[in-house]
Amino acid sequence: MTEFHYAVDADGVATITWDVAGKSMNVLSIAGLQELDAHVQAALADGNVKGIIITSGKADFAAGMDLNVLARMKADAGDDPARGLFDGIMQVHGVLRRIERAGMDPKTLKGGKPVVAALPGTALGAGLEIPLACHRIIAADNARAKIGLPEIIIGIFPGAGGTMRVSRKLGAMAAAPILLEGKLNAPKAAKAIGLIDEVVEPGQLLARAKEWVLSAKDADLVKPWDAKGYKFPGGAPYSAPGFPTFLGAAAMVHAQTQGVYPAAKALLAAVYEGALVPFDTALKIEARWFTHVLMNPSSSAMIRSLFINKEALEKGANRPKVADERVARVGILGAGMMGAGIAYVSANAGIEVVLIDATQEAADRGKAYSEGILDKGMKRGKVTADKKAEVLARITATTDYAALAGCDLIVEAVFEDQKVKAGVTAQAEAVIPADAIFATNTSTLPITDLAKASKRPGQFIGIHFFSPVDKMMLVEIIKGKETGDRAVAKALDYVRQIRKTPIVVNDARFFYANRCIIPYINEGMRMVGEGVEPALVENAARLVGMPLGPLQLVDETSLDLGAKIARATRAAMGNEYPDGAVDDIVFWMVDQGRLGRKSKSGFYAYDEAGKRQGLWEGLADRFPRAGDQPELTEVQHRLLFAQVLEAVRALEAGVLTDIREGDVGAILGWGFAPWSGGPFSWLDIIGADTAVAICDRLAAKHGARFAAPALLRDMAAKGETFYGRFGAQARAA
Ligand code: NAD
Repeated sequence: MTEFHYAVDADGVATITWDVAGKSMNVLSIAGLQELDAHVQAALADGNVKGIIITSGKADFAAGMDLNVLARMKADAGDDPARGLFDGIMQVHGVLRRIERAGMDPKTLKGGKPVVAALPGTALGAGLEIPLACHRIIAADNARAKIGLPEIIIGIFPGAGGTMRVSRKLGAMAAAPILLEGKLNAPKAAKAIGLIDEVVEPGQLLARAKEWVLSAKDADLVKPWDAKGYKFPGGAPYSAPGFPTFLGAAAMVHAQTQGVYPAAKALLAAVYEGALVPFDTALKIEARWFTHVLMNPSSSAMIRSLFINKEALEKGANRPKVADERVARVGILGAGMMGAGIAYVSANAGIEVVLIDATQEAADRGKAYSEGILDKGMKRGKVTADKKAEVLARITATTDYAALAGCDLIVEAVFEDQKVKAGVTAQAEAVIPADAIFATNTSTLPITDLAKASKRPGQFIGIHFFSPVDKMMLVEIIKGKETGDRAVAKALDYVRQIRKTPIVVNDARFFYANRCIIPYINEGMRMVGEGVEPALVENAARLVGMPLGPLQLVDETSLDLGAKIARATRAAMGNEYPDGAVDDIVFWMVDQGRLGRKSKSGFYAYDEAGKRQGLWEGLADRFPRAGDQPELTEVQHRLLFAQVLEAVRALEAGVLTDIREGDVGAILGWGFAPWSGGPFSWLDIIGADTAVAICDRLAAKHGARFAAPALLRDMAAKGETFYGRFGAQARAA
């Protein structure tokens, strides 16, 4: 298959156009890289060719490397996957280095042919690393285009020369947001920071590229790092200005990653070591560190969950095969915190919104929430006045249910009260079309029970958003007993429209995400009740990659909500209720009026402005610290197993039907240690037999909540992994 097209014009300018057939976006494959290399070689060898333009036949330049390529390099190398990866990466370096040297004499640096990258739109990952090897990068002024190296976000780092070229081009300090945070920039901003060289009107792109090729001099082709006397911008590690930068960067990276993300550490090491040696050696160092990261199971797990499977779910991997169900007009019942957020994300995605509340004032307040977000966006230059007007014009705030006529989807977000919900369900169904889908955003009430208030339970479903709606990327779709395929398809198409990531689960107490996060919070509080140092609990969680310790998390979500859930769960479970010890501490805190951040007092102390200070000292008076404190690992195991065992039980019980959803949902829904790739990936990393041994130990010491589920025991006996046992099934879905 041809991925790059080659043509030479009458003026001797060769254009290599990247245009992968049948795809809307270019992605780099091994075959593509070989084609690019062959075209570059042909152009360099052809006496009639004066220079080369590398561009794209699509609206964007490229989205990066096909990540399966890395997996294949590893697999093809048999017993020595690290060697396979290293050799493969060095081949990529070779191709890009040939572009960069462009046939010039290595001593005099003369006689090369100019190579310019002309970017019509987005250029990400390897899609920017190829341009970085060219002598000039010219981008079209396309405000929607994103230019950058987002690799770090999925657990790797730019390994096709991007790390070395960006750090050498900009210096460690300016390169940090691009490499360590994966920050993406629009073309003008990318030019302002020196990442690319020129921005032109879209219609001028190729003409300007050609003009540059024909006027370039020998000196224009020599990269600073290939020229004599090159100095690392901002100073190399052993220079007076460089020393504090590198020292500070190491501390900063550690503070942000707690040392659990191998990629950030490896990236920094590669930049540091690379800065001390000539460029070709630096590329080898980059390749070594890149191989090191790719060999770490964390990176494969992150790529699998945060890239491959997240995308598969967003594209509808588990969507029933029914016709297009995209939403044109959504009715939202309840304009409180959640309803207002749902209205904003819907209107922002181009969907007409009818936002209903019991009073006009409440409905207007819900709409004003969108105005607030849009105003903030305008201040940051991200939203235009026209866009704001457009989005607000799509939201009709009213108390009149008749306005729901013509809505093809309803999302109900009124009080968490079955009677109130039943009332609004009947009111809405009296007006909406017979084929409309009715969704509830309940977080605790069973969908099957709520569906009893509906005349059309087959069209009734749960669409569970997380707070704050505009920031949280996960949406949990919950099927009741009678929910039909069209309702699932509608929910999935809607989630896709609002550009979030869906998981589809079956109806059970707390669905999936809350089912796993509540035991995490409870285990943290239970330990405090036992006399474990609160600081040990919080730090143990952070050091294993949880974004918030359990005590901080309960402060954020509020202790009175915890108490409310505890009461409801106790009522529903009766004697089976396992969390009496946790309730002692929750109810006591509520009695003290320490409700968390909202009351400016909880497990943490807060200042007048509500800023979190240290852990609250007074807690020790009521729950004294034990003389003997547990090992850090023991605390971490308790916190992690509280979550992952619940995920396994959800799978056993058929609440989860796809482990990919379990992993992606855990990371996006409650921030489960992203470096692990999610609960199932983490169990695969440590192995089922190790997991069972830890369960046995924890259960003997702390109780039956840590008993290994039968599924895990079975897998340990058979030497299986979750992705080995359930992965193929998930891929086939
Ligand atoms: P909220 O109290 O902020 O908002 C509820 C709104 O519903 C209020 O504005 C109220 O006036 C309105 N309302 C009540 N009865 C009504 C009626 N008969 N007709 C029209 N409007 C009516 O609550 P919230 O936090 O937005 O939660 C709403 C739903 O979302 C609940 O079911 C809750 O469990 C669920 N949920 C909440 C969160 C969260 O973090 N708060 C997360 C996920 C799901």
